Amino acid sequence: MTGALRGVVALDGPSGTGKTTVARKLAQRLGAGYLDTGAMYRMVTLAVLRAGVDPADAEAVARVADTADFGIGTSPDRPEIRLGADDVAADIRGPEVTKAVSPVSAVPHVRELLVARQRRIIDDVVGHRGGIVVEGRDIGTVVVPDSPLKVYLTASADVRASRRSTQDTAAGRKSSVADALASVERRDHLDSTRAASPLREADDAVHVDTSELSIDQVIVALSELASHRGILADCKEEVAR
Ligand code: C5P
Repeated sequence: MTGALRGVVALDGPSGTGKTTVARKLAQRLGAGYLDTGAMYRMVTLAVLRAGVDPADAEAVARVADTADFGIGTSPDRPEIRLGADDVAADIRGPEVTKAVSPVSAVPHVRELLVARQRRIIDDVVGHRGGIVVEGRDIGTVVVPDSPLKVYLTASADVRASRRSTQDTAAGRKSSVADALASVERRDHLDSTRAASPLREADDAVHVDTSELSIDQVIVALSELASHRGILADCKEEVAR
């Protein structure tokens, strides 16, 4: 079934800015597909840890990435997140994976493999559904540089840490705001200083600071941007809510 969105919305930014919630809700609202590229890096990281490989050993990490059998769904309602036969949606958000994911995703071979796979998935979903919302760190700069709408979400470090801590606590993981702040700052530093496609804002991205905005306000702002860019088909009932 085709939704309202035509093409790719690229949603990038550091951790804790609300990217995942925003991307899923926007995709739902526009009847579009959804791709969480961070989940793909997290699944490779989980495979690395399960294989007993040191995340800092780039060659061994690359070998695990070559053979890891993982599946990623594109439904915004409940995307499949599978490693081998296991549903690993919860495991990939655990502290071990969160700690190891930045070094794993800095390995150039891992990025080549995953970017190629992301582009195949995006082409396929755009072909079938008309559009897709893709979230990550390098979507507007590397994965889909010709995306008609690139958004860079930010929020102050304190707000991001507080959101992460609330999410972790809701998922049953112990987390203080101070721990979450140290974790988001460490990951942002590693992600934005790595040599291979570092986190950075595309020159033509729209910068949205979510510190003072509710999720719904962000969704409305992005839907309006998509409408102004002319990438919504005439499905008024889907976008006018
Ligand atoms: O978005 P999320 O916090 O789940 O991403 C986990 C990690 O995956 C990031 O900290 C980053 O190291 C990596 N990542 C990336 N490129 C992307 C998406 C995520 O390097 N497109």
